Amino acid sequence: MQADLLQLSIEFLKGVGPQRTVVIRQELGIATVQDLLYFFPNRYLDRTRYYKINELQQSLAEVQIIGQITSIKEVPFGKNRKRLVASFADATGVMELVWFQGYKYLIEKLIPGKPMVIFGRLQYFNNTYSMPHPEIESLEEHKIGLKSGLQAVYPSTEKLNNRGISNRIFSKALEHAFSMANQPFEENLPLEIRKELRLVSKSEAMVAMHFPKSPDQLTKAESRLKFEELFFVQLQLITKNIVQKQRIKGYVFNSVGENFNTFYHNHLPFELTNAQKRVVKEIRKDMATGAQMNRLLQGDVGSGKTIVALLCMILAKDNGFQSCLMAPTEILANQHFSGLTELAKPAGLNIRLLTGSTKKAQRQEIHEMLLDGSLDMLIGTHALIEDTVQFKQLGLAIIDEQHRFGVAQRSKLWQKSVVPPHVLVMTATPIPRTLAMSLYGDLDVSVIDELPPGRKPIQTLHKFESARGNLYHFMRSEIAKGRQIYVVYPLIRESEKLDLKDLMEGVDTLSREFPLPDYAISIVHGQMKPAEKDFEMKRFIEKQTQIMVATTVIEVGVNVPNASVMVIENAERFGLSQLHQLRGRVGRGAEQSFCILMTGNKLSKEAKKRMETMVRTNDGFEIAEVDLELRGPGDLMGTQQSGVLALKIADLVKDKAVLQQARVFATRLLQTDPGLVLPEHESTRQHLGRLMQDKNLWNFIS
Ligand code: ADP
Ligand code: MG
Repeated sequence: MQADLLQLSIEFLKGVGPQRTVVIRQELGIATVQDLLYFFPNRYLDRTRYYKINELQQSLAEVQIIGQITSIKEVPFGKNRKRLVASFADATGVMELVWFQGYKYLIEKLIPGKPMVIFGRLQYFNNTYSMPHPEIESLEEHKIGLKSGLQAVYPSTEKLNNRGISNRIFSKALEHAFSMANQPFEENLPLEIRKELRLVSKSEAMVAMHFPKSPDQLTKAESRLKFEELFFVQLQLITKNIVQKQRIKGYVFNSVGENFNTFYHNHLPFELTNAQKRVVKEIRKDMATGAQMNRLLQGDVGSGKTIVALLCMILAKDNGFQSCLMAPTEILANQHFSGLTELAKPAGLNIRLLTGSTKKAQRQEIHEMLLDGSLDMLIGTHALIEDTVQFKQLGLAIIDEQHRFGVAQRSKLWQKSVVPPHVLVMTATPIPRTLAMSLYGDLDVSVIDELPPGRKPIQTLHKFESARGNLYHFMRSEIAKGRQIYVVYPLIRESEKLDLKDLMEGVDTLSREFPLPDYAISIVHGQMKPAEKDFEMKRFIEKQTQIMVATTVIEVGVNVPNASVMVIENAERFGLSQLHQLRGRVGRGAEQSFCILMTGNKLSKEAKKRMETMVRTNDGFEIAEVDLELRGPGDLMGTQQSGVLALKIADLVKDKAVLQQARVFATRLLQTDPGLVLPEHESTRQHLGRLMQDKNLWNFIS
C-alpha cells in the first residue's frame, strides 16, 4: 500500500468521522490507516450459523437470527426520553429489538414483514430475550454481503460499545481502506523464502485477517504474518550484532599474562569443570577480537560463575585495565567482595567494595584510587553507577544477576569509558532458549551447563501445614548432624507490614521449637539496616546460628555451603524462578540437601503446577520453560522494557516453532546476502530499515 494512504487519518474512512476518531484513538491507540490495518481481530464468529428464537439460551453471548419485524413502537422512559422497541419473530417465537438512541435514520429501514437478519448480544429480561442495538440488514443485503462464513470480532472497550463503535464500523472502515488501495501491500519477504515455506503473500494475508473466506485461509494468513513478524525481529537482532561487531571497537585483551597464568596454574582452589573451562576460553577469545564483548553468561545456581568472573578480571589486569563487578544487593556485593578478595589474594589484585553504606572517607579514597589506576577491581551495588565513580581505564564490566537491573542502569555502566568496556552479564535465571533468542539474539551467550562434581541433587518435597510437626523433627535431626537451615518467607511489596508479621510470627514459633541455648536463630529482612543484616549473615556463615529466617533478600547469590535445608513458607506465593533461586541456596556442599515447600491446603491450578514442577526437576532450564508457559514472557526479567517483544500477532510461547524457523531463515539470508543488497532483497532491506529506525533497538542492551 502507498505510504501516504497508510499515514492517512482514519477520520476519512467511511463511517468513522472526526468524533469517532477521537474515541478510537483514546481507547485503542489507533490513529492512521496503517494502525487500523494492523488492528487484528481477537476472534472470529461463524456467520453461517443462524439460531431459531426457541433455541436461544442465556449462555449464548452473540447470536444471528433470521426473522421479521412484526411491530415497532417508541416507548417513553426516564425524563423526556424514548426508546425504540421492535418485536421480531421467526417461525418459532418472538423477541424484542431495542434502540436507546440514534434510531431516527434507522426507522425507514425497519420494514415490518420483510425478511431480515439480526446479529448482536442477547439479553434476557422478564422472560423474553431482547437484543439492544442489533446489527440489522435485509436478508437480501446479508446474502450479498456474506463474503465469508467468518466474521471478525475486534477487541472492544466499554466506551466504544457505548458510543456504538461496533465491529460493523471497523469492518466498513477496513473495507474502505482496502478498496482505496490500488496497489496491494508491498511484499517484504524474499520470494525464495515464501516459496520454500509456502507462505501466502502479504496482501492476501492482510485482507484475510480481516475478511477470511474460510478457516483455512485464516490459518494461512496468520502463519504468514507470524513468520514475518518473528523473521524481522530476528533480522534486527542479528544485524545489530553484526553491526556492533563491525563498528563498536573494543579494547584488545590479547595478553594472557603472568597474573592469569600463575593464578590459573597454581592458585585455583579447585579444578574447573569442563563447562567453566570452555566458557573462560570463549570469553578470552571474545575479548581479544578488537570488538567490544557483549556476552551473557548463563549458568544455573551453584554452577560456579564467580570463579569465571574472577579469571576475566585477572585477565583485564594483565592487559592493563580495571574491572568492576556490580551485584544487585548489598549482601551479595559483600559476599562477592569477601569471597573474591580471599580467592584473589595470590593474584595480588587491589580490590575494594563500594555500596550505599560505604563511609565518605573510604569513598573518597576509592574514587582517588580508581582515577590514578591503583585500584584493579571494584565490587559493589548500584553505587557503582553514580556519576562520581570514574575509572582511569575501565576495561571490563561484569554484572551479576542482571535481570535485577534495568536497561538504563546497565547502559550507565558502559558509559564510564570512551571506548566501551567489555560487558559480561551473568545470570542464574536460565532464560528459555526461545526467549533468549528473541531477547538476546544480539548478545553472545556462554552457558555453564555442568555443576561442579560431587554435588548431590537436591531433594524437593511439598508439604502441607499438617506436616509441620514432622518438619520440625526433621530440622532438629539435620541440625544434630551439624547442618544449617534456611527458612524463607515471601515478601510482597504491597503488604510489607503483613509479610513482616508472617515472618515475625514464624520467628516466634521457631524460637519456641528451637530454644536457646541449644539453638540460635539469625533473622534477615528487607527493613533492617545493612549493618544489621551483615551482622546476622555473618553469625550464620560463622555457624554461630543454625537457622536463618529470612525474606527473599537471600534469594540471590548467597553462598553458605554448610546450609543443607531450605524451608520455603507460603511457597504458593512465590513464582517458579524465585523458588528455583531459593532452592539454589542449598546443595552447595557435599551433603545431601533438601528443599521443603510448605503451602496451605487450597492451591490454585497454577500453584499446584509450580509445586509439582519443583518437586519433579532440578533443571533450571526446564523450570524456566514451565515458568514461561505459566506466566507468559511479559513477566520475565523486565522484558517489557525492551520493547522488542511488542509483538502484534506472534506469541513467543505458542509460536516457538515459528520463532526457531524465523531464526534459521534470517541467519541464512544474512549469510548469503549480508547487506541485503541483492535486488530481490530490496524490499526486505527497506522494511528492516524502517523497523530499526522506529525502535530504539540500538541501545537496547549495555
Ligand atoms: P553461582 O554460579 O551460583 O554464582 P558460585 O560461583 O557461587 O555459583 O559457586 C558455587 C559454589 O561452587 C562455590 O562454593 C564455589 O566455590 C564452588 N565451585 C565453583 N566451581 C567449582 C568447581 N569447578 N569445583 C568445585 N567447586 C566449585
Ligand atoms: Mg553467583
